[in-house]
Amino acid sequence: MPRTKSLATLIQYYGSERVYKPKANKIPAIYKILNREIFNNRLKTPYIKIRRIRGALGLFEFNPYATKHCYRITLHNKFKNFQEFVEILGHEMVHYYQKLVLKQNSAKHNKEFYSFRKRFSKMGLELKRIYR
Ligand SMILES: [Zn+2]
Repeated sequence: MPRTKSLATLIQYYGSERVYKPKANKIPAIYKILNREIFNNRLKTPYIKIRRIRGALGLFEFNPYATKHCYRITLHNKFKNFQEFVEILGHEMVHYYQKLVLKQNSAKHNKEFYSFRKRFSKMGLELKRIYR
């Protein structure tokens, strides 16, 4: 992965033809860029887990009774390409924002969720409810 702070450079580097399998040690760098460019650094570092998910590409979960991690993002272990991975991570980060910053109890695909669409598209990303 090239050392860059630009998401556009990374998306170009990985290309759209190659399957992307996220690795835990690569996620924080991408997370940091999205947090800065889309969320004005308002998000903290959540617990991010990678595993094979059936019927979804990503999940955001909030559990106030969790002993360790109340906020948790789970990502599927295989994406169509790097861009899809970034879009899913960004999507789950919007849910995290809804919970952490907006204090919405059920972080759904509501008006506030879609208010991030412009910021996504400025970075060449799509914000959708379902990706495939
Ligand atoms: Zn969602």
